[in-house]
Order: sequence, then structure tokens, then C-alpha cells
Amino acid sequence: MSNGIIYSVVVPLYNEELVIEESYKRLKSVMDSTNGKYEILFVNDGSRDATRNKTENICRLDKNIKLINFSRNFGHQAAITAGMNQAIGDAVIVIDADLQDPPEAIIDMISKWKEGYDVVYGKRVKRVGETFFKKFTSTAYYRLLKSMTSIDIPVDTGDFRLIDRKVCDALNSMPEKNRYIRGLVSWIGYKQTFVEFVRKERFAGETKYSLKKMFTLAFDGITSFSYKPLIFAGYFGAFTGLIGIVLLIGTIVTSIIDKSAILNLGLILSISLMMFGLMFCFMAIMGQYIARISEESKNRPLYIVANTVSYNELKNSVTFKGNRSPEIYDLKITSKGEAIGN
Ligand code: UDP
Ligand code: MG
Repeated sequence: MSNGIIYSVVVPLYNEELVIEESYKRLKSVMDSTNGKYEILFVNDGSRDATRNKTENICRLDKNIKLINFSRNFGHQAAITAGMNQAIGDAVIVIDADLQDPPEAIIDMISKWKEGYDVVYGKRVKRVGETFFKKFTSTAYYRLLKSMTSIDIPVDTGDFRLIDRKVCDALNSMPEKNRYIRGLVSWIGYKQTFVEFVRKERFAGETKYSLKKMFTLAFDGITSFSYKPLIFAGYFGAFTGLIGIVLLIGTIVTSIIDKSAILNLGLILSISLMMFGLMFCFMAIMGQYIARISEESKNRPLYIVANTVSYNELKNSVTFKGNRSPEIYDLKITSKGEAIGN
């Protein structure tokens, strides 16, 4: 049931107190200019700063805004999934909160959608203000992933995109826990295109993607869409095994011909160590796949919603879904109708 809502904008938030207000302002101005009914779903992914309070204040003043609060930090992909699960629009737009993805590009995405495309993803033609490490690892990773998969996952794209209702429904029907959403969207198919944009620097604050989170996402992408690392491990094992057999024959023959031939222990030791190292690496790769199977089989929910907050619920002041934590709702309304958090 879309309630006449055409656009749903999903914005994941993790410790974004420095950007949330500016982000809201820019999004609101872009979405107002579409002349279509819209909702903005902010998903607070267990922030520990004032993100929740500030977003609630925004909800209090704007009936187009909804806030979904997680019970803890579940991660970027889980936050996007929660937003998509609750979105009711005919088109769903996913955008980061930090304004690295320019909200104004949504207008171009909507035009493409109106032309009949079901997925319009944002393609980064340039990245400004990001570290060399981030740019290098990201460029290398997208190309590696592309070479490993048979699905056409576009390079240099993030989760900034517009998807049609039917694509959102297809995504929502996928129960998998290790979600690499940009890959899943490619996997779904339909008519896809892109709009180009320059990825700016963060409006404020630091990246919320720790190295660990980056690696987990990278492995999710590879393990969800490719078995090539396992196949490569198999080929490598067969190749080195063959070399081992040749060397063994060589050693036996040499020791028969020349009994005084001394084995080079240093060489043997270093080769053995290298092989052990590689073996553990391949075991770890296998472990990555097994861990994901284990996670899927536990069948835990992908995220837990502590509560959802929206204008109507705030207006009626008490009817919250989920738990309320008292310190958050103790807001004062000024005579101008502005909300001030305490
Ligand atoms: N984010 C999130 N949960 C996390 C990490 C990040 O919801 O655990 C959000 C974050 O608030 C932002 C988006 O995901 O809106 C992308 O994060 P960020 O901009 O820090 O990543 P980067 O652009 O540096 O890769
Ligand atoms: Mg960012």
C-alpha cells in the first residue's frame, strides 16, 4: 500500500550528528522539487551520539520523515535493508547521509526511472577528498570482483541508486543475511542504467566504515557472487603438488647417483613455511564461506528495530511502536512549534 507515496528515500545513519540536519535540508529541497509525494526513512543504525535526538526533532516537524531506530549497530547493509523493508513508495532511493552522494543527482535518477528504467545507479566518475588508500582499494576491489563473477556488477558504484518497486520487492524477498546489496540488485536484472556524479568529500565527520567493516563487505561481495577463490585454491594445490612430485623424483635420482649430495635444509624449510602459510590462507578463505553458511543457517534476523518514530506518532505524542527510552522523548516545543531536545 503506497498511500499515494511515489518516492521513498532511505538514508542509513551511524553517528551522523554533524551531518543529519544539513542532509535533511538538502534532501528535502530536492524531494520537494519533484512535486511527488515522498517519504524519507532515516535508519539509525545504533548511533551513540546525538543522531537519534536530532532526527527525532526533524520527525517532529516534518510529516514526510520516519525514523527507524535499531537496537544496536547492525551495519550499513542491514540499515539499507530495513529502510527497503519499510519503504512504501513506487520508487526507492538509497543515499548516504554524509552528502558524498549529491542529493541533486536524484532528479536525474527520477528522469531515467520515468523513461522506463527499473534501476538507476550512481556511477562515480571522480572521487574528491578521499584518501589514496580508499580510492586505490576501492578501484582495485571493484575490478577484482568484476573479473570473478559472471553477473555484471558495475564498477565504481556504491549503494546510491534508485530502484523500482518491483526491484525492491524482489530484494525484500531475498532472505540472505550477508547482503551485498549492489550485487543483489545486479543479480535481479530488469532494465538498468546509470547517472554519473562526482563523489564529494564528507560534509562533516569521519568515515563510519572501519577497515574491518570494509573487509567484511568486500568478502560478502566475493563470497556471495563467486566461488573462484576456492577454485583457484584447488588449481594452486594441484600445481604445487605436481612440482612436489617432480622434486621428489629428482631428489631420489640425485641421491642414487651421488650419495654425497646434501639436502639444502634452509631451502626446504623456507619452501615448507611458504606452503604452510598459503595453506592457512586458503583455509581462511574456505572459512569465510563456511562462516557465512553458518550465519545463514542460524536464521537470526538481520536487524532488530528498537522503535520507529514518525510525525503522526509524535503528534499523538504517546503511540510509539516498540520501546521508549525516557531521556529521548523529553522534548520541549517552543511557541513557534520548534522542538528542542534537552
Ligand atoms: N553507516 C551505517 N552503519 C555503519 C556504517 C555506516 O548506517 O555501521 C552509514 C553512514 O552513516 C553513512 C553510510 O552508511 O550514511 C556510508 O558510510 P560512510 O559515509 O562512513 O562510508 P564511506 O563513504 O566512507 O565509505
Ligand atoms: Mg561516505
